[in-house]
Amino acid sequence: KLHNQVLELKGNIRVLCRVRPLLDKERAAGSEGSMPVKVVSEEMLRVAAMENKAEKDFEFDRVLAPDEGQDKLYEEVSALITSVLDGFNVTIMAYGQTGSGKTFTMEGPEGNPGVNLRALADLFKLAEERGAQFTTTFTASVLEIYNEQIYDLLVSGAQDGDKLDVKQGPDGMYVPGLKLEEVHNMGEVTSMIGRGKSNRSTFATNMNEHSSRSHLVLSVYVSCVSKLNGTVLRGKLHLIDLAGSERLSRTGAQGDRLKEAQAINKSLSSLGDVIQALQQRNAHIPYRNSKLTRLLEDSLGGNSKCVMIVNVSPAVENVSETKCSLEFASRAR
Ligand code: ADP
Ligand code: MG
Repeated sequence: KLHNQVLELKGNIRVLCRVRPLLDKERAAGSEGSMPVKVVSEEMLRVAAMENKAEKDFEFDRVLAPDEGQDKLYEEVSALITSVLDGFNVTIMAYGQTGSGKTFTMEGPEGNPGVNLRALADLFKLAEERGAQFTTTFTASVLEIYNEQIYDLLVSGAQDGDKLDVKQGPDGMYVPGLKLEEVHNMGEVTSMIGRGKSNRSTFATNMNEHSSRSHLVLSVYVSCVSKLNGTVLRGKLHLIDLAGSERLSRTGAQGDRLKEAQAINKSLSSLGDVIQALQQRNAHIPYRNSKLTRLLEDSLGGNSKCVMIVNVSPAVENVSETKCSLEFASRAR
């Protein structure tokens, strides 16, 4: 209820912050003694004074501490999943530096699924519960935005010549030529995601580096037809594992690396600008400045709902990137 009141006062965007646990290697390197990031309450994070800078507090709609698992995180977004079946467009995205927990949050490791699979399972369950009133169909797509180009990950061997565009149609934003697959159950969903991942890795010589430099967008399109009067409700869910937000070191980047870094910068700063403009209820929202924001034009503002999860590392060696992520997130609130 409280959340709904907040939504009426501000834009429809909630910002959560998730602090991942210290990794074994960080613990081994002695990070434990000097943890710069502290969860002060369910809404506040404190970053210790370092490098002659004062201690600073950051407020969020919710802060998830390192020991709060995937179920706790999912609780914070599950209401939005129901909204998709009510005809809303919903975006859930993970932001943060490489290694901060974005993929853990969205995808999750084997046996401990993240938002993506939980959301899909909920959609199927809810659709079944509404089976007497609605005929619900789900289609899905998996795409990647890399260097400001869109690639269809459900098509194997996509080349540079196959890059796709974003257009505005009668039913909202769409990507002409993008493959949409109808999915009926979790088995089909996991097989589809698996194919997307394997196509993604064939583009890349180094999968880890590649995935940190591109945005991965899993989209689910829902159509609910009323059995009573034939009314159609359409909703759309974008689940996004964003490119790593880390700044490029000032030295050494050239050629492809520099181009990649500039493309990421452009789309993440455009995303920040769009969210800020929405939260401030500006008349002009600069959606057209990047492929990502253009794709999300009908799924961030207006009648849509969005949660941004800002992932941060608790480790002392990451503190300066952590601060950058928190500053970005604060701009989004
Ligand atoms: P990113 O996708 O942002 O680069 P990852 O999701 O790959 O980061 O996370 C980096 C490492 O931290 C992985 O080993 C992952 O398993 C671990 N990790 C991240 N978040 C959590 C979490 N909430 N709980 C436990 N381990 C986590
Ligand atoms: Mg990742």
